[in-house]
Amino acid sequence: MSGLPTIDDALALVLERVRPLSDEEVEVGAAAGRCLAEDAIARIDLPPFASSAMDGYAVRSADTPGVLVIAGRSAAGRPAGRTLAEGEAIAISTGAVVPDGADAVVPVEQTDRGEPEVKVEQVAAGENVRPRGGDVHAGDAVVAAGALLGPVQVGALASAGLATVRCGRAPRVAILATGTELRRPGESLGAGQIYESNSVLLAAAVRSAGAEPELLGAVADDAAATCAALERGLAADVLVTSGGVSVGEHDLVRASLAELGAEDVFWRMAVKPGKPIAFAVRGGTLAFGLPGNPVSSLVGFELLVRPALLALQGMRDPAPAYLPGILGATLRRNATRDELVRARFDDGVLHPLSGQESHMIGRAANANALVLVSRGEGEVRRGEQVRWLRL
Ligand code: AMP
Ligand code: MG
Repeated sequence: MSGLPTIDDALALVLERVRPLSDEEVEVGAAAGRCLAEDAIARIDLPPFASSAMDGYAVRSADTPGVLVIAGRSAAGRPAGRTLAEGEAIAISTGAVVPDGADAVVPVEQTDRGEPEVKVEQVAAGENVRPRGGDVHAGDAVVAAGALLGPVQVGALASAGLATVRCGRAPRVAILATGTELRRPGESLGAGQIYESNSVLLAAAVRSAGAEPELLGAVADDAAATCAALERGLAADVLVTSGGVSVGEHDLVRASLAELGAEDVFWRMAVKPGKPIAFAVRGGTLAFGLPGNPVSSLVGFELLVRPALLALQGMRDPAPAYLPGILGATLRRNATRDELVRARFDDGVLHPLSGQESHMIGRAANANALVLVSRGEGEVRRGEQVRWLRL
């Protein structure tokens, strides 16, 4: 055993430090990706009236089969405005009000489409009628507090008449890259320089977690400059840095955070890639020091930062959502560290990519999955069930 915190240990240490942010009113049209702070209560019954599921004729089922007099029309948004009497039918379109007195709709295909009298086949009471409140009742929670809102949820909220909902405030996330070697894409590279990619990677990941990135750019491996940049970042709800958390003489992030009064909660986690990850807290700010290799940064984000961002917004179940899948190739386990292997999920099978080193962000672009290979002896064999995260 390495003695380092496992992924689960580290996540528990992070979530222990999360204090959910305040909530705010958000327009339903802008609420996808946000977290619901309180139960969203339906304003109306859904559907709000008994409505037709078909184009056809509203009838009294007891009158069928038979020949009925067409006594009016009910179109979507234009009710017939009269009650159905014995021996009558009302021509009706999908979504239109089923008139009082009618208890079923005969689909147009089951009639002779006659006019002014229509011959209809038999229907049972309730057939092709969507009862009022059959989906949701007024006063019911249409989406529960703590849910992450997606397209389906915002659709349900709008259907239930909600124009706005209360959501956890979007965390402000300062992103700082560290490394003297870093240049912006678009600039030309000098000797030993590389393009800075973690800022854009992390900013996109932050947005996808419903939070707002604030890019602080890149700082050189210089103690004074690093402290000044970190101090700015500590004003945010969350500070995410990349690079400078290993044991090299130019790795200044942890010492600088300590100098700024941040409490070191843990450093290093039993994971591959991404072992040197650091987590510190100052006041209400959570600070994540992610390792500089881009895939390590990505893995650290998915395992710890995303759950923290979701928990800050009040999400009920912020832990990474592992899915079951079948491994497409045999993999050797790491003895002491859980490993996240980049893979392509295709037709239920996870195919590990070639080139798993933590700097290989180019190859990682072909991955849509991170497969969890738990630590231990021996191998996980092709065909075995594993857990994985969607990228
Ligand atoms: P470090 O964690 O600072 O030792 O960095 C590890 C490796 O990641 C080094 O090869 C760095 O050049 C590289 N690296 C660090 N930060 C970034 C970044 N923001 N974008 C791309 N590569 C980075
Ligand atoms: Mg560095």
